Amino acid sequence: MLNVEEIDVYYGNIKALKGISLNVNEGEIVTLIGANGAGKSTLLKTLSGLLKPKKGKIEYGNKSIAGRPAQVIVKAGISHVPEGRRVFANMTVEENLELGAYLRKDLKGIRNDFEKVFELFPRLFERKKQLSGTLSGGEQQMLAMGRALMAKPKLLLLDEPSMGLAPLLVKTIFSIIEEINRNGTTILLVEQNANMALSIATRAYVIETGSVITSGTAEKLQASEEIRKAYLGGM
Ligand code: ATP
Repeated sequence: MLNVEEIDVYYGNIKALKGISLNVNEGEIVTLIGANGAGKSTLLKTLSGLLKPKKGKIEYGNKSIAGRPAQVIVKAGISHVPEGRRVFANMTVEENLELGAYLRKDLKGIRNDFEKVFELFPRLFERKKQLSGTLSGGEQQMLAMGRALMAKPKLLLLDEPSMGLAPLLVKTIFSIIEEINRNGTTILLVEQNANMALSIATRAYVIETGSVITSGTAEKLQASEEIRKAYLGGM
């Protein structure tokens, strides 16, 4: 479904991604793990068209999407939930969700997806008239995910969905990610919480200073002593 080959991405003169290659197959949950500053968010931003690679290929389906504008990429079926859940604070929950569907014209489908999002996140339904800036952190994360789903993505890019959330809420968010996947959306998940991420993922890539240092099935990485020491709290 997604095929990334040898991409280089720069911020000015700083090379943040150094020849990264990876692939995501339809139906998978693939996770990217790695320390702060490894380049995980930069990779997601490049996939969603916010940054342009200087070198390398990004293919989605059979189309090249490297360097294409973000809205072309959303239309092609990739939605990005950025780190820090940027919701429009002065708009209601409902209005934020409507914005997620702004490129769509199938009104019936949109209405249907509103219902699906509210089923997935009953909390958002209860608060649909509330201004988003007054939601709790967990609710804002739900809203950011719900808004991305309103674009009806085939591939969902999630950047640190568990950041700053209480452990119980982290569990809820992860089980919702699994449910979104079961409903047919492929997921590329960036997480600091590598234990949780590996527990739901099919495969994972470990990124260090802009390069993939290892990859494999989630079970393989969970069983690796080196990975456990470096990323899973050493147990
Ligand atoms: P984190 O989990 O801390 O967000 P990350 O793996 O997502 O880490 P990135 O945010 O992708 O890391 O950052 C990769 C590198 O690029 C870092 O060295 C970072 O300082 C640098 N970087 C990120 N954004 C910018 C920017 N706008 N300008 C310059 N350098 C940047």
